[in-house]
Amino acid sequence: MKFNRFTVGLIYPIIFLTLFLVCFVYLPAVSKENNKENYLTAIMPNMIDYITEITDLEYKGYPLPTIFIEEEKLICAGAYFEPRDTCDIAGYYDDEKNNIHIRNTPTIYMVEDRFQEVVLIHELVHFLQYHEGVYEQVECRQNLEELAYEVQDKYIDLQGIDPIQKVDGLFAIISSLCPHKHPILFGEH
Ligand SMILES: [Zn+2]
Repeated sequence: MKFNRFTVGLIYPIIFLTLFLVCFVYLPAVSKENNKENYLTAIMPNMIDYITEITDLEYKGYPLPTIFIEEEKLICAGAYFEPRDTCDIAGYYDDEKNNIHIRNTPTIYMVEDRFQEVVLIHELVHFLQYHEGVYEQVECRQNLEELAYEVQDKYIDLQGIDPIQKVDGLFAIISSLCPHKHPILFGEH
């Protein structure tokens, strides 16, 4: 490539703009996510204590999960088999890798108020359920949700978090039911 006065004149603004974007947009965004992940990792042991206090679940020193805060698209791709850009999933526990994935922004049914904390306590219930062998005791995976929602609601009350973060009662019931036992609710014949 030959440099003429015009292209040389463009190089400095481009370098400047790139540096600006990296320093003031990209790096702060990355460090903000890292800070949140570190904070959530730090409060995880207390949350596990809380869950074992109010439920029959026990914690027997299982390695703590790694927390990932991710964009909606990534969360949807991880939670569904077919990729999609938008979904109502706030987070999920990957029991194979022992990772908890949480969205960087609230779902349409939730608000900012300590959103990631609320999702974390819900997913930690699944983490304990998995290690305690509850996955094998329930009739279907949906049954695991009942306790997770119960703990989530109690934590919200205890911490004085915005009650909007609670899951709607009817939705909680429906999403805790096994599909084959309630075919009409799930639109099957
Ligand atoms: Zn759940």
